[in-house]
Amino acid sequence: MSGIQKYGRRRVSPIFLDEFILFPDYTPLRLPHRESQLKSVLSYIAEFAASGKASQHVVLYGRVGTGKTAVSKISAKMVVQRAKRTRANAGFAFVNCHRVRTVHGVLSEIAKILSPFVVTKGLPTSEIAQLIGSKLVEGKVNLITILDEVDYLLESSGDELLYSLTRFNEFYPSRPISLILVSRSLNFTDRLTDSVRSTLKKNYVEFPPYTAAQLKDILLDRLEEAFQPAVVEEDVVGFVSELSAQEGDARFALELLWKSGKEAEQEKSETVKVEHVRRAFSSMVKSLALEALPNLGDHELILLYSVCRKLKDESSSYVTIGDAEREYYRLCEQFNVSPRRHTQVWGYVQSLNSIGLLLTQISGKGQRGKTTNITLSGSPLEPMIQEVQKQLRKRRIAQKSGISG
Ligand code: ADP
Ligand code: MG
Repeated sequence: MSGIQKYGRRRVSPIFLDEFILFPDYTPLRLPHRESQLKSVLSYIAEFAASGKASQHVVLYGRVGTGKTAVSKISAKMVVQRAKRTRANAGFAFVNCHRVRTVHGVLSEIAKILSPFVVTKGLPTSEIAQLIGSKLVEGKVNLITILDEVDYLLESSGDELLYSLTRFNEFYPSRPISLILVSRSLNFTDRLTDSVRSTLKKNYVEFPPYTAAQLKDILLDRLEEAFQPAVVEEDVVGFVSELSAQEGDARFALELLWKSGKEAEQEKSETVKVEHVRRAFSSMVKSLALEALPNLGDHELILLYSVCRKLKDESSSYVTIGDAEREYYRLCEQFNVSPRRHTQVWGYVQSLNSIGLLLTQISGKGQRGKTTNITLSGSPLEPMIQEVQKQLRKRRIAQKSGISG
C-alpha cells in the first residue's frame, strides 16, 4: 500500500520541480567556467576521433568536484557525434577505476562496451586485450578510453595497464587508442614509469577549484529546472556558493543546495531560506566527519588537527608538510603524548590523503626544491575543527581546557 502511494503517483513537491537536476549523476548540457578546459581536451582528441590518426592521450587533473568527470564525458560525446557526421566510427569507453581497480576488470569493461555479450570471466588479460584489438579493427572504431579516478587503478595495479594501452598501436597500428586519464592530482604521474609518462607528453589540463562567483553561476544555471518558480530566496544561492568556495567543489555546492531544499520541504516552508542552508551545511559536515573521524588512530587525529590549526592560523589554503609536522610536535607536547617519528608522520599524511580527508600536492615552487603542500579536502575548515576537537576530547587526548579554537 505504501509502495503504491510512494511510486504509483508522482508526488508534487512545493519546493522542487525536478530534484534530479541537482544530483551528481546528472550531466548538464552546459558547463559554465569550463570552456577552456573543454576546448583543450577537444583539441587533443578531436582529430583522432574523426580520422583514427594522430592519437594522443590527455590527463585531466584537479580536486574533487571541479568538473573533470563532466568535461571528460562531454568532450568524448562531442567528438564521437562530430565524427559520425563524417561517417567515421568513433566511440568512447568510460571506466570508473574507483569501482573497477584491476587490469582484468578495466579491460573487461572496455571489451563489454565494444561487444556487450562477450564473456571475459576466466580469460587472461592478454586475450581480453586481443579481443578489444580485433573488435576495433573489425568495426574500424576510433576508440577514446576514459579512465576516471585513475589514481585507484595505479594504487592497486601499478601502471601496467596504461603501459599496454599506450602501446596499443604497436599491435594494432591501424587502431590505436586515445586515453583520457582523470586524476585527483598531478602527483599521479610520479608513479608512472618513464616510458608511460613520455607518451603523455605534456598534455595536462588543470581543473582549478571554483571561486564563489563561479559556483554561483553553476548553481544559477540549474535553478530554474530544479526548483519551483520563485521558491529559492534571494540570498540562498550566494550563501551556498560562499560556503562551498573554500573547497571550490561544485558537487558539494549542488548537494548543499539540494539538501537546503530538502530542509525547506521537511519544514513545510514555502521558500528555501538561508536558515535552511545553515542547517543543511552543518548536517553535511557533521556526517562527513562522523563517518571518518572515529576510525582514525590517535596520531592521525592529532596530525589532522595540526593541519586544521595551521590552515586557520595562517588563513591560507595550503600548509607545507614541514609546518604541519612542527605543529603536530607542538600539539603532542601540549597533549602530553609522545610524538611519532618523521617517517610515520609522513605515513599518516598519506593515509589521511587516501581516505580523502586531506589533500596533498607536490609543489615545485618551494625555496628548496619540491615541497609537499597539504590542505583539507571535501569539508569546510571551521566545522571540521569542531568535530576533531570533540573527537580528541572523547578520547581524552585533550581536556576541554587544553584546546583552543
Ligand atoms: P570531478 O570529477 O572533478 O570530481 P564532476 O565532474 O563530477 O567533478 O562534477 C561534480 C558535480 O558538479 C557534477 O554534478 C557536475 O555536473 C557538476 N559540475 C562541475 N563543474 C560544473 C560546471 N562548470 N558547470 C555545471 N556543473 C558542473
Ligand atoms: Mg570525478
